[in-house]
Amino acid sequence: MTTPSDGVLPAAHASDKAGPWPAYVTASLAWHAGAGLLAVAMPASWPWSVAAIAANHAALTAGGLWPRSRWLGSNWTRLPAHAAARSEIAITIDDGPDPAVTPAVLDLLDAHGAKATFFCIGSEARSHSALCREIVRRGHSVQNHSDRHSHRFSLLGPKAMAREIAAAQASLADITGEAPRFFRAPAGLRNPFLAPVLQRLDLQLVSWTRRGFDTVRRDPADVLARLGRGLAAGDILLAHDGNAARTEDGAPVLLRVLPELLARAKSLGLVTVTLAAASLPQRGDPAMAPAEATPAESP
Ligand SMILES: [Zn+2]
Repeated sequence: MTTPSDGVLPAAHASDKAGPWPAYVTASLAWHAGAGLLAVAMPASWPWSVAAIAANHAALTAGGLWPRSRWLGSNWTRLPAHAAARSEIAITIDDGPDPAVTPAVLDLLDAHGAKATFFCIGSEARSHSALCREIVRRGHSVQNHSDRHSHRFSLLGPKAMAREIAAAQASLADITGEAPRFFRAPAGLRNPFLAPVLQRLDLQLVSWTRRGFDTVRRDPADVLARLGRGLAAGDILLAHDGNAARTEDGAPVLLRVLPELLARAKSLGLVTVTLAAASLPQRGDPAMAPAEATPAESP
């Protein structure tokens, strides 16, 4: 199986094939070893060694707290170049399934002939398994958004992180009959332990091109402006059915944003597809896996 890769830099491909750790993490390990040796060889220099290690930890932490960074491994922030060339965009909808919101989202997508990717939480999928199956039955895609959506996800060690992702993977595959191929971290936050876990489970990390902040912003015009700014082929948009903010009159924001967003995409000649469809080198070619995809350059 080929390693999932965003293919942005040839060097990233090479390091992916060499092992599960991204080049930046491997370099960090060497940095630690060098700082340790310096402290042993020249004991008086120990403050410099401590400072060097602290600076490196700060950089690794920053890479994990910046959802669109590639410092900690492959990360899709846009669709593959071949999908952009087909005028495709992907709307990704997180934190469901939610029985109060998701059915209406499905109806809106149907009304506009659009397909979307639902990054579902494992525990929510188990609670609403029929709704989770309905998402797939209507031609959309269900992908892995961890098992419990813990706000401490980016603080987990390698074993706990693997358990979180594997539990959701098993539940979602069992419920929908299709194993997810994409993963999104809760709030997009992660740490260096994530990349090896995703490689083992054959999952591609996906973040986004733009997000609407629709879990906190209550004004549909504001959310639409954020999602639709410079809308273009290859975009990956992030919205929410679960944890959705409510408008002043109590409606989930996404339901007020989606019709206008889909109409705008259509007027620009854009086709709204699932991530799985966008990963195919040719439309409707199921033989190719996302690993073979070559994403577009980031803006
Ligand atoms: Zn989420």
